[in-house]
Amino acid sequence: MTKSPWTEFPEIWNTKAKFMSWLRGGIRRGLWNRSPIKLEVIKRKRKRIINPKTNKEVWGGTCYICGDDFVQKELQVDHIKGEHTLKEISDIQSFVEAMTLVSLDDLDLVCKRCHKIKNHAERYGMTFEEANTEKKVIEFGKLPAPAQHSKLVEIGITPPSTAKARKDAYREWLNKNN
Ligand SMILES: [Zn+2]
Repeated sequence: MTKSPWTEFPEIWNTKAKFMSWLRGGIRRGLWNRSPIKLEVIKRKRKRIINPKTNKEVWGGTCYICGDDFVQKELQVDHIKGEHTLKEISDIQSFVEAMTLVSLDDLDLVCKRCHKIKNHAERYGMTFEEANTEKKVIEFGKLPAPAQHSKLVEIGITPPSTAKARKDAYREWLNKNN
C-alpha cells in the first residue's frame, strides 16, 4: 500500500493537491451528498411557505443565518460548526467522521448565498460580515462598467476611471454604510 498515490501514478495525479481534491470530491459526492441524515434534516426542518415567484404554497425552510424563508431548492444543509478540511492524508479520519458521524444538532438549513459567504469567510479567515462585503464587491466587479458607474452615482460617489478604483470606492462605501 502506498500513502502517496500521486508519486506512484503521476500520470493520473501530478500533484498531491490534485489527489486530495479527487479524494475530497469522492467522499463529498459518495457520502455527504447522499447522506440519509442530511435528507432527515431537510424532512424535519422544512415547512410550507409561499413561493414569492408563483404565490403558491410549496415546501421550503428558513435559513439559520439570514432568517429568511426560501423554497427547498434554494436551501442547502450546512455543518453549523466550521469547514472541514481534507488537505493531508492524516485528515482523512476526521473528514470522514465529519461527513458521517453527525447529529441533527450539527446541521441546519442555509440559503445558497449565506452558505457561500460562510465558506468564503472560513477559507480566508474573515468574519461573516467581511466576507459578505467582499461578495458584494465581487458582484459589483462583474457588472459592466456603465452599470458600475450608475451604481456609484446612485450612492453619491463620482465614479473613478479604473475598474480597481471603482471596486475600492464601492468597498469603502459598504464598510461605512453596513
Ligand atoms: Zn441566508
